[in-house]
Amino acid sequence: MYLKSLVLKGFKSFADRQVISLEPGITAIVGPNGSGKSNISDAVLWVLGERNPKHLRGQAMEDVIFAGSSARKSVGVAEVELVLDNSDGTLPVDYAEVSLTRRMYRSGESEYLINGAPARRMDFMDILHDTGLGTGTHSIIGQGNLDAILSSKPIDRRALIEEAAGVLKHKQRKERSARKLASMDNHLLRVKDVAAEVE
Ligand code: ATP
Repeated sequence: MYLKSLVLKGFKSFADRQVISLEPGITAIVGPNGSGKSNISDAVLWVLGERNPKHLRGQAMEDVIFAGSSARKSVGVAEVELVLDNSDGTLPVDYAEVSLTRRMYRSGESEYLINGAPARRMDFMDILHDTGLGTGTHSIIGQGNLDAILSSKPIDRRALIEEAAGVLKHKQRKERSARKLASMDNHLLRVKDVAAEVE
């Protein structure tokens, strides 16, 4: 699996539709200060489901929508599409190419699409689980992150090792199952109450 292309429209400094095509291997993006290099990695984080605007160097999530410039007025929607080459079948879907799209309107409403079909944020998480991509993982290291990792507490470093070892996804699934079990216990309690009343 590799990142095949990134399509940005109305995202941060990318007002017009911009297609960034990538090849397998290492890609370096160079450009003057303030030209939008970090906005590209922000776009990758965002499309994968990032919900914390601070992780995208903003104050509010709306800050990802192109806010206008001296030459152009602002737009009402930001859209990023990430196309992954899945010809090696890394992702658990029967497609050789997987497109993940996130759209956000000024109202704050977000839309997620997988290969053009409406999906939930959770579906993105499920598809990306075994890949090391996705929110909460460390596939994107921002400026200053490395220092934070090197000086992190042992318990935080353990979380990093668990992520790399693939334990994190099982922990998340366990937490989800525990929540479902707790809700089933509540239902069961109610059923028992009703049954006791009927008897
Ligand atoms: P450096 O090399 O200094 O780290 P960079 O190439 O990584 O810079 P970015 O930080 O990606 O640059 O881009 C900053 C530019 O993006 C600024 O000019 C900023 O005004 C613009 N920008 C960020 N958010 C928006 C937005 N919502 N609307 C319009 N422009 C935006």
